Amino acid sequence: MPQAVTIVDHPLVQHKLTLMRRKDTTPADFRRLLREISTLLAYEVTRDLPLTEDEIETPVATMRAPVLRGKELCVVSILRAGTGILDGILDLVPTALVGHIGLYRDPVSRAAVEYYYKVPTDLERRQVIVVDPMLATGNSAVAAVQRLKEDGAGAVKFVCLLAAPEGVAAFHEAHADVPLFAAAVDERLNDHGYIVPGIGDAGDRLYGTK
Ligand code: URA
Repeated sequence: MPQAVTIVDHPLVQHKLTLMRRKDTTPADFRRLLREISTLLAYEVTRDLPLTEDEIETPVATMRAPVLRGKELCVVSILRAGTGILDGILDLVPTALVGHIGLYRDPVSRAAVEYYYKVPTDLERRQVIVVDPMLATGNSAVAAVQRLKEDGAGAVKFVCLLAAPEGVAAFHEAHADVPLFAAAVDERLNDHGYIVPGIGDAGDRLYGTK
């Protein structure tokens, strides 16, 4: 059951993404923009959360009013750049629990190698949202979602800022049941595994490293 990528094409998202792409954008601005975009992505990703009604009293009357019901959220950040998206989602859903997966890309094989894993123990009862700004080869995303599924996660969504067509294909091949959200799908990967035109190395741009 292949799922399309949901491109969040809201003008605010697209404008802020352009500011992030500019090579002269400072780490402070880059962090703030990713946080702002992530809040807007979170709005789309949570669009289908089920509602029920509670009886409440306003200052004027009693009414039945909509409240969230069902699976609680767990946001899982793929270190280190995932933190840039995590913060924006938590601004909107502060009660979500948080997991972290540390993966680095082997420089030769480009395979994802796990060095850290800490997530809530009750993933099976949660809506899990995995976040990483860049879906490039897809190796990290595929490995992270696989690990979470092995740990009990059933309802999983994946949120990135930018994707490469190669990453989208690899991700769907491995996890056709996991809906994918992005602000844009760029042209391609280059020989170094970077997304073109892209934004460069998301972690370096977030934290000012090289
Ligand atoms: N990771 C990044 O940070 N940037 C890319 O373009 C690809 C992978």
